Amino acid sequence: MAWVKLFRKPGTRLGKSYQPGSMLSLALTKGLLNEPGQNSCFLNSAVQVLWQLDIFRRSLRQLSAHFCLGDACIFCALKSIFSQFQQSRERALPSDTLRHALAETFKDEQRFQLGLMDDAAECFENILERIHLHLVSDSAAEICTSKSCITHQKFAMTLYEQFVCRSCGASSDPLPFTELVHYVSTTALCQQVERVLERTDRLRSDMFGELLQAANTIGDLRNCPSNCGQSIKIRRVLMNCPEIVTIGFVWDAEQSDLTEDVIRSLGPHLNLSGLFYRVTDENAKKRDLHLVGMICYSSRHYLAFAYHSKSSKWVFFDDATVKEVIIEIKHESLHFFSL
Ligand SMILES: [Zn+2]
Ligand SMILES: [Zn+2]
Ligand SMILES: [Zn+2]
Repeated sequence: MAWVKLFRKPGTRLGKSYQPGSMLSLALTKGLLNEPGQNSCFLNSAVQVLWQLDIFRRSLRQLSAHFCLGDACIFCALKSIFSQFQQSRERALPSDTLRHALAETFKDEQRFQLGLMDDAAECFENILERIHLHLVSDSAAEICTSKSCITHQKFAMTLYEQFVCRSCGASSDPLPFTELVHYVSTTALCQQVERVLERTDRLRSDMFGELLQAANTIGDLRNCPSNCGQSIKIRRVLMNCPEIVTIGFVWDAEQSDLTEDVIRSLGPHLNLSGLFYRVTDENAKKRDLHLVGMICYSSRHYLAFAYHSKSSKWVFFDDATVKEVIIEIKHESLHFFSL
């Protein structure tokens, strides 16, 4: 189980004031059908968030050349839903072509099979990974540098991790890797929130990045590589400046329900300097990302919220149902209201 939370760099339209009655642009938001037995809510939520991400939608529109897999082609299937979103007069569209392509692609692994419920965060991540494979021939390269690969150009965080001893200065070899989704344990996040609340009486929204970093590194202690006796913490360093950052919350608590605590910790902004031990890219250091989408899981069902930049409104997606919602920041955390 996971939520996907997306942030992107502030666009010019983000600050545009609320315009009552501007439903024209919202007409371009459509629902996605989920007939009984299809269990497609995980896919529908992932697709809605991808469609609402302006950077992704516009970049995908410009691409056509790809390694096509015919009926099993996730690239073609996603492009077809996107053009339907633009051209169709229906209020809700089927997502069957993509559902089939996904099932066919992951047949051997027995994942995302027809009729079966699956994980929206993994679906989201796998769609992005597949788009990379459809666009880039050299899939053996560890770090993708292809200019036409939307997946890595827009979403990937290029990182390295290293253990450095504060006491004797010894360090482990830096380990480079890329990440499309940055996963954080909700149990660890709530522990960090508690620690902060012991010192101050409330959470500030600009602490969100640091909270996530602390939660992400907390249990990761090693013995000093030169055996000086210290236990040392992991350091993760960001080397690029991703345009879209995705946070995946891992619901790992067996017993207690942390939902309210997690919601309380969510901030509407995320600065990359807070999220990592160090950020080397000058643009990334200054970057303050805005929340633009969320995929939520509740009662065995996935739903999505996404920011519709043309109308500056938040939209709620529950398969075929699409509603405008109001999102407010109260006491520095997020609140959603249905209209
Ligand atoms: Zn294709
Ligand atoms: Zn790539
Ligand atoms: Zn040491």
